[in-house]
Formats: sequence, structure tokens, C-alpha cells
Amino acid sequence: MKRLLLMVVLLLISDGSYAGEKKTSFGNVKSRSDLIITESKCLIDAAGKSSEVTIEVTEGVGSLQIEIHGNHEDFPIVEDFFRVEKGVIKETLVTPKIPSGADERLVRAAQQFSGAAGQFLGKNRCMCLLNRYASLVVPNNPNVKLSPGTWKLRVKDMGENKHERELRIRTILRTKSVSFARRILPVHFHFSGARGWSAENYLDNQDFQAYLSELKKIFLSANIDLRIDSAYNLNSSTGNAGNKMIIEDNDQLFNLLESGSATYGLKIYLVDELMYGASGISAGIGGPTISSEFKMGGVVATLPDYGHINMFASALAHEMGHYLGLFHIKEYGTVLQDQLSDTNPDDDQGVNIMSAQGSNDPWSTRLFSPQQAQIMARHPLVMSLPSPEVKR
Ligand SMILES: [Zn+2]
Repeated sequence: MKRLLLMVVLLLISDGSYAGEKKTSFGNVKSRSDLIITESKCLIDAAGKSSEVTIEVTEGVGSLQIEIHGNHEDFPIVEDFFRVEKGVIKETLVTPKIPSGADERLVRAAQQFSGAAGQFLGKNRCMCLLNRYASLVVPNNPNVKLSPGTWKLRVKDMGENKHERELRIRTILRTKSVSFARRILPVHFHFSGARGWSAENYLDNQDFQAYLSELKKIFLSANIDLRIDSAYNLNSSTGNAGNKMIIEDNDQLFNLLESGSATYGLKIYLVDELMYGASGISAGIGGPTISSEFKMGGVVATLPDYGHINMFASALAHEMGHYLGLFHIKEYGTVLQDQLSDTNPDDDQGVNIMSAQGSNDPWSTRLFSPQQAQIMARHPLVMSLPSPEVKR
């Protein structure tokens, strides 16, 4: 994941391809009674600065996810997020300013790591992960509360190619505060043929079932039940190299992340190999809530020829953690730690699933912490149980 941050903005050609839908997907983000979804636009000027977007947070709102959807050449990030009262700024949760008194080492590390030091070190952390999409999850640590009132959002374009443009903004407010009750995350598996898994055989395939059972075990530690809503076979033209699906560049990655016909839930793509030898990639930290209008999204995980199935499941769970809003406990090779008090930054053994380090022991399942569970429960894709829109 870290290497991707350094990638330049590339032109992407979208040509989603899939075949062999196994089950019908259902559910729609717009039918959720616990969510208020607003779509708006934001103008970016030739200097890369944006117009202000107003977000009204009413009493009782528990959390907010802001999604910024751009085009191929865009590289957006949330620049500012603050609450105003009669034209006066009352509270700032995201700012490009580096916090006063911040440790020099932290600042340098954040600059190298995220390209947006102020935003990354701020009270409610955010950063850009891939081009075309940025997000802000509020709150994403226990020290932040989303107060009711009028909030203003400003976006910045980090790309080299500055020109006037329009970005689509989607805000998703969760009207109820997050409970610790059991929740559901609908997922859609996209098979590439790796390990012989397919939309036709996954239900009876012992190897896949072992993978799924490890994955479910990890998510149960966060009180989240995974529900497979559909399964697809990816068209081999998405990747290359004969029978293997190998995602080698940004073009192929976005091509993949737009494929499939699911319109709600978390898309999971299982491929043979990924660029830079990565074991997985998430489309965002606070990944997009896909819908019929916003197709891009999901996580990619690899199924290498060698290694234990539990390690592959663990790599996927880690990317899903990012998608649901989690950062690493400690960024690899830096002094940057997460903002949570129940994770251990010296977790070199990879006890926690969001440790950047990972673990080499397939028999010690890496889990989520209670604070991590609380953050993930706020993602719009995570639903309460029973969910009103689900009809089997
Ligand atoms: Zn990671």
C-alpha cells in the first residue's frame, strides 16, 4: 500500500469485464433508513483549490463518510473540514496545517508517507491512497466527536496536471450512533481462476471454505458477520500472462476495481499477483460505498502459489480493514502510530490484523481491537442486523 502513494497520476481507461454471475445481488445504499445520502459537486480551480461544500449535521448523527469521486487524472484529498457558526470557525477536524508542537520526526515521516502531513497528523486523520478517489471518515478515532451544526469541506487536487475541474462529492451520514450489536457486511467475491476457485465451485470448494472460515473468524472479532451476496468470474482479459491474473499497473487496477455488476457491498477481487509484490490493495481508507452511479471500489488480494491459506485470508482481512476506515497501527519503518489506545505500536509479531508488519505464523489468527471494531462499524457498508432491505 505504501508504495502506491508515490505513484504519479496516470490516465486510466475503464473497461469493466466480468462473466458468470452466480447469485443475484440485492440491497441498495439508498434504501437504508439509517443513512442520509447527499450528492453534490465541488469546483477545483486552476491552482488546485476547491470551492466550499456545506454539510449540515443534525442532532443525533453518529458518524459521517465523505467520498470524493474524480476522473482519471484527478488526485483529490480533503484539505479542510471545519464547523462554522455565524461565519466564525468553531472547530476544525481536518487542516493542512501541521499541528503546533508536533515532533519533527513525525512531520517528516508524515510528509514522506502521505504527501499531506497536516491532514495525516490532524485530529481526524486523512490521506490519499489512490488517485480518482478520496474520503474522510468522521470520527475515525475515539478522541473525535462529530458535533451537530454547519460544516464546511474544502478539497485539494494533488495531481501535477492543474486545470479547472469538477469533483463529485457524496456525503453519507449515519443517523444513529454505532452500537456494539452484531453487524453484517455484504461482500461480493470476484474470482480470477487463482487456486481453481470460481463462481461455480466456491460453495463446495474445501480450500475456499477454509479461506472464508479464517476470514469470518477475523471479522467476528469485530462483531461483523460477512455475508456473501454474489460471486463472479473475472474475464481473463482483465489481467495478463496466460492463465494467471497479474495486476501490473494503475490502468489494470482501476479496470479491475470497476468490474462486476454489484451495486452495494464490498467487492473482493482475488488475483494471482499484484504490482510491487503487494499482497493486497484497498481502493481507499474509508473506501467508496459502491452504487449504480459509483462503480469503482473494492479490495484486491492475492492468492500466491506458495504459503498458507490462513495467511492469504489474513492479507485480505487487512485490506478490508483499510476499506472500512482503519490505518496501520504503526506505519512501516516510521514513527507514525494510529490514534487508538487499545492497539500496541510495538506489535512486531503482528498480533493485530492492522499491523503493517504482518505475521509469519498461520496458526495465530490476527484480530481487530475493540476501537478498530467501532470505527469499522461506522462505514456505510456495515449494516445493523436484521437489515430491513434484505429479502432472501
Ligand atoms: Zn496495509
